[in-house]
Amino acid sequence: MIRLRRKTKPILLENKSSWSKDAKKVWIGGDHPIVVQSMTTTDTADADKTLEQVYGLAMAGCEVVRVTCQDARDAAGLPAIVARSPVPIVADVHFDHKMALAALDAGVAKLRLNPGNITSPEKTREVVARALETKTPIRIGVNMGSLARDLEEKLGHTPEALAASALRHVDLLEELGHTDIIISVKAHDALTTIYAYRLLAKQLDERGSPYPLHLGVTEAGLPREGTIKSSIGLGILLFEGIGDTLRVSLAADPIEEVPVAWGILKALGLREKGFDITACPSCGRAEIEVVNLARMVEAIAKEYTAPVKVAVMGCVVNGPGESKMADVGIAGGKGKGAIYRKGELVGTFPENELLGQLRLEIEKVIADQYPD
Ligand code: SF4
Repeated sequence: MIRLRRKTKPILLENKSSWSKDAKKVWIGGDHPIVVQSMTTTDTADADKTLEQVYGLAMAGCEVVRVTCQDARDAAGLPAIVARSPVPIVADVHFDHKMALAALDAGVAKLRLNPGNITSPEKTREVVARALETKTPIRIGVNMGSLARDLEEKLGHTPEALAASALRHVDLLEELGHTDIIISVKAHDALTTIYAYRLLAKQLDERGSPYPLHLGVTEAGLPREGTIKSSIGLGILLFEGIGDTLRVSLAADPIEEVPVAWGILKALGLREKGFDITACPSCGRAEIEVVNLARMVEAIAKEYTAPVKVAVMGCVVNGPGESKMADVGIAGGKGKGAIYRKGELVGTFPENELLGQLRLEIEKVIADQYPD
């Protein structure tokens, strides 16, 4: 069984200026569902292009989107992005307090900022005061590449150094009265990431600072390797009840990150979205084209958001059993296949009719689940 989720403070993310009253508010932490995030790769100064990517991410299931705000050009693009985005926008700011102030003025839902990295205490105070005034949460994001110099020298590239660096920024925010904090401590390998988040969660809980954690393996790599590292790193933490939001970092179009993040949450039974497709790997016993059929089911799945369990099995060995456990299942036979809905045999159909019939049964399952 998955362990009890760590108790965390719920933090509200909401764009302050919005084209629509219905634009989504998203809670991170508490009993709220674990939130899927990603980050744009476009030039923030080009608001239209960035919004196009934000909409693409949102349509894929991304619930919070981060954009970089590194100079005055980016800052100028932010108001239009925030106002027209369908999801909360987070501004990623490093060092420059003017960019943090500009992002807050643009009405972002959250700042990603390490307050201790701002060059002077007065500037830090000014940013935090404005964040408090505008009720804007701050994510402290420490990566192995951005450790405090003295901690790096003393503790090396270790989970201890990541956690200690993060806590230093937490101290600073708390001293200034800001406690709407979310924290990440990302390494580029799964094991260091796991140890760092475990340690940080323990230390936060011991000092009575129940801040939510944003999980991620940073710079995880190209899609195949990044998916594996993220699934192991984030999957183990989520299994242990640690983590309130996640970003899968892939060296790819960010839209590719979203189904991976959802896949991790679905595999752990933490959230439901779209189809859960079981397909046998096929073998010498297969009597239908399992892999092709599964790919076609995957293509159909893109049209639906309802959670439906579909099984595609190649023969009668495991086929009927697995198919009966799914909402809709196919068990292959010689040039034909049996279709089951909710454990009941619907009928046996020639191979060329299977996909059409399967879609029909899927529609029936969805209609039963959502009568209106
Ligand atoms: Fe092979 Fe049948 Fe198992 Fe598929 S269900 S892997 S075809 S034995």
